[in-house]
Amino acid sequence: MQGLGGRTLMDNCPKPRHSCRMENTALPPDDLGKLVALRHALHAAPELSGQERETADRVALFLRDTQPDHILRGLGGHGLAVVYEGAAPGPSVMFRAELDALPIAARGGFAHASRRPGRAHLCGHDGHMAILAGLGLWLARNRPARGRVILLFQPAEETGEGARAVLADPQFAQLRPDWAFALHNMPGLPLGALAVGPGPASCASVGVRLVYQGREAHASLPETGLSPAPALAALMADLAPYSTSPEMGPEYRLATLCHMRLGAPAFGIAPGQAEAWITLRTLSDSALAEFEADVAALAQTRAAALGLAVSLSRHDHFNATLNDAQAAAHIAQAGAALGLPKAEFALPMRASEDFGAFSACTRTGLCFLGAGVAQPDLHTPEYDFPDALIAPGVALFAAIWGQVLAGDRAG
Ligand SMILES: [Zn+2]
Ligand SMILES: [Zn+2]
Repeated sequence: MQGLGGRTLMDNCPKPRHSCRMENTALPPDDLGKLVALRHALHAAPELSGQERETADRVALFLRDTQPDHILRGLGGHGLAVVYEGAAPGPSVMFRAELDALPIAARGGFAHASRRPGRAHLCGHDGHMAILAGLGLWLARNRPARGRVILLFQPAEETGEGARAVLADPQFAQLRPDWAFALHNMPGLPLGALAVGPGPASCASVGVRLVYQGREAHASLPETGLSPAPALAALMADLAPYSTSPEMGPEYRLATLCHMRLGAPAFGIAPGQAEAWITLRTLSDSALAEFEADVAALAQTRAAALGLAVSLSRHDHFNATLNDAQAAAHIAQAGAALGLPKAEFALPMRASEDFGAFSACTRTGLCFLGAGVAQPDLHTPEYDFPDALIAPGVALFAAIWGQVLAGDRAG
């Protein structure tokens, strides 16, 4: 198979050509050209979380010619599931990509740059969609003999709401996947290098907003008011032990103070209100619930001691992703069979991924695929998913499907 960057994926394959599984997972150059064009079209027309109607339409239209057995629309919002049924019973395997872009202005400067001000595909979800659409093209030529393959194009990943919304949608009951797999591109790792392992793959996280209410006063008479400033100072001291980068383990707790506001920008007023935004991170959902409760109790105790009222609200909640050991093994074996190099990447990823919501109902496997060492970081204005990663991504998903089928037969 010819890579789009002029490099063949076979070059990476450590095995003799006659035994290399990559031949079974390759797409013809015409298909790769269509996938690059699809990614560029998606990149140029980004839609934010929960608003991905056009994106879902474009993907559905692209996959219509692959003659899927079912297409489910409107899953958890604008989600789309494209289903290919085998003739005989077998495992039901879901592969997931994300539909949404980010509310960040891109640097652009290339032909397929975002045409929508303040919105851009800076997390590479355009590339993930192209890869999943590529699996659809591959399935059109390699219909499942048994079992079922589900391509899930999920909405609203960036807000942490989409996976849970898909799971809560009554239509999802029709899909009943036994396995769910996803990949995320990862700048900083060599192109096509694979990182996967059993256990925690990405952190649980939640945003906590604290609003303190005191009483304003003239700046010359602060003692007649009630300033929340000491509560902010106490909060900073209380969170300091969690603000560094401890070893990742079951006790891992990270608190990042993201935003603070005290009073109004006026020299004549002693402040009466303050707020703080904190992101909490742990390795499991239960550890996150405990951490959140501890922070809330501490903030309430401090506020009460100072005579302040405090209210808390939670935002951007992401479940931890817990890789099933066998799912991780299937991914690793698929990568090895394709000759994908192993990435030097410490798991779990500290950032969150709402794919974790699927861990509660099926065997999940999330992996990371290198997007190139010299690439800008995800969510930065310069990021543009590398087209050369589409072919390895499609091959990896196709090979994972093969591994699951082989394992199911063996079991
Ligand atoms: Zn993102
Ligand atoms: Zn992402």
